[in-house]
Amino acid sequence: MKILVINCGSSSLKFQLIDSESEQVICKGLCERIGIDGSQIVYTPAGKDKITNVTPMPDHNRAIELVIEALTNKENGVVSLEEIGAVGHRIVHGGEKFTKSVIITDEVIKAIEDVSDLAPLHNPANLIGIRACQKAMPGVPMVAVFDTAFHQTMPENAYLYGLHYSYYEKYGIRRYGFHGTSHSYVSKRAAEILGKDGKDLKMIVCHLGNGASISAVDGGKCVDTSMGLTPLEGLIMGTRTGDIDPSVVEFIMKKENLSVSDVTNILNKKSGVFGLSDELSSDFRDLEQGYNNGHAGAKRAVDAFVYRVVKYIGAYTAAMGSVDAICFTAGVGENSGFVRKLICDKLGFVGASLDVEANKVRGEEKIISTSDSKVTLMVVPTNEELAIARDTYALCK
Ligand code: ADP
Repeated sequence: MKILVINCGSSSLKFQLIDSESEQVICKGLCERIGIDGSQIVYTPAGKDKITNVTPMPDHNRAIELVIEALTNKENGVVSLEEIGAVGHRIVHGGEKFTKSVIITDEVIKAIEDVSDLAPLHNPANLIGIRACQKAMPGVPMVAVFDTAFHQTMPENAYLYGLHYSYYEKYGIRRYGFHGTSHSYVSKRAAEILGKDGKDLKMIVCHLGNGASISAVDGGKCVDTSMGLTPLEGLIMGTRTGDIDPSVVEFIMKKENLSVSDVTNILNKKSGVFGLSDELSSDFRDLEQGYNNGHAGAKRAVDAFVYRVVKYIGAYTAAMGSVDAICFTAGVGENSGFVRKLICDKLGFVGASLDVEANKVRGEEKIISTSDSKVTLMVVPTNEELAIARDTYALCK
């Protein structure tokens, strides 16, 4: 079966067409600037060059039409419309309602709408993507795969904040966690690579990308994760603060005469390694170069980022009692031997020892600890689209 995977944002739409049997990507691409001047669709059919089509995209319905046109056109299309057997949608927030992927029905759409106040930027865009696909492909089964679902196994003591309990009861304010599809995929894949049953392993997964989160996976189940009610909590990220004292918000508001949303915007978009590096960059390639060239801001930012990751690894080792494997994934985790080394050099307390030669790997599955290391350190590239396609196939075959 050919599965179309859709990741729909407010002004962008990423897609991949995946063959469920071979698990190969048949075509992948991106619609950018939907509803904004200068919109375009960029896509790459497998084995061919990238194709760019600059064309008006007033809304997501038009974007989906263009995706289907790109996949099915005579010249460089890869399938006929009838061959697309199912569509998998990435949905950011499933609240407490969704603990696994589900076939999309009217009730599911209503339930996604109901939790939209927990992810006001993302869930409405995800729903627009679902509706646009239903319009363009009536009768094709669709599946919702939630970023929060894998973390729903967290125990109450890990997901509750120290807030008055009534806020949890009234509004569902608690830790939900994100990047769940990635944490799930990587922890399962790591167990396969190690030739062990996930039930017998305690793992820490470090998803270090522009957005970054870390999770403790005990016996195949998530028991804690660093992102919270929203993706702002936890690790220091590209432009997000991660953990801060909530009083900082009111303090900055008063000092700089700003509104709550002004400060929230600063916490999300102007902070993290970007803000700490004096706005040198949010990209770790630039920060590595800056670090090695003696840029004070780059050193400050990278050191704070690394310290926070190590602190969480310590906390999650304590939460699980011990750790067998620590996995690195996403843009930084997969590609930056520099950042991995800075982190792993501080993991002597769990008996981890880095194999410096093996750590030169980029974007490939590899064990990067020495043979006498007490904890296995590994690089496991994430593949959220494949995970979505697998869930979609499992529910629709
Ligand atoms: P997201 O999905 O959150 O946007 P990614 O997982 O794609 O993020 O990660 C993007 C980040 O990965 C970039 O901002 C950059 O910091 C980092 N990155 C990508 N390639 C490299 C590399 N070769 N070396 C260091 N960092 C890299």
